[in-house]
Amino acid sequence: MIEIKNLLKSYKVGGSELHVLKGINFNIEEGELVAIMGSSGSGKSTLLNIIGILDEADSGEYILDKIPVKNLNETIASKYRNQFLGFVFQSFNLINYKSALENVAMPLYYQGIKRKERNEIAMSYLEKVGLSSHSHHLPSELSGGQKQRVAIARAMASNPKVLLADEPTGALDTATSYEVMELIQGINDEGKTILIVTHEPDIAAMCKRNVILKDGIIIDDKYIEQVRASSYV
Ligand code: ADP
Ligand code: MG
Repeated sequence: MIEIKNLLKSYKVGGSELHVLKGINFNIEEGELVAIMGSSGSGKSTLLNIIGILDEADSGEYILDKIPVKNLNETIASKYRNQFLGFVFQSFNLINYKSALENVAMPLYYQGIKRKERNEIAMSYLEKVGLSSHSHHLPSELSGGQKQRVAIARAMASNPKVLLADEPTGALDTATSYEVMELIQGINDEGKTILIVTHEPDIAAMCKRNVILKDGIIIDDKYIEQVRASSYV
């Protein structure tokens, strides 16, 4: 599903170059649930943003579902993002003045789907995350865990090939984090390929594979015995 070869990325900071990714190599198959781990500043978000076509590597190869991602103009990049990728962020990134339902329906608008069908699809995803009774609530009327559920429903509504989540539990307490991980595990059980960035070992343990980044290189990459979040909830 994802093939990455020799990815390099640096930023110009002041007069000098900050080498953030120093030769990243890994592949992700369909149906995997991968945690990218590493301490703050190790390059996790930079890597996820490149995979999410929000940023571009300086060199190397990135192939997403057999399509080489390189030198895309913004129109094509946003088309691929819409078509292939769902995003979940630590800070939820919901639109404050729109209801839960409208937030979930948003990406479908960009796919040209008509309002009635948009709302039907959005409602079915709110149901999947257990929030159909909160469809008319504004984000300010939802708890942190509920906001993240809405964000996950929004990411799933366009049926992406890959779900990308940058510290999805970073703003949540432990119990709520495990509830969100239970939802993410359930989505993965249905076959969705999911990539999570986290620096929390208990969250990484709930994935099937741990890729450890340190100072821009992968220092470990292993399949693990997945801990079920439901054993805590
Ligand atoms: P992580 O997500 O693992 O905490 P990041 O990928 O966000 O790490 O950042 C890795 C390094 O790159 C950090 O030192 C950060 O300060 C730097 N960095 C990230 N984005 C930029 C940018 N746009 N410009 C300059 N430096 C950046
Ligand atoms: Mg980060």
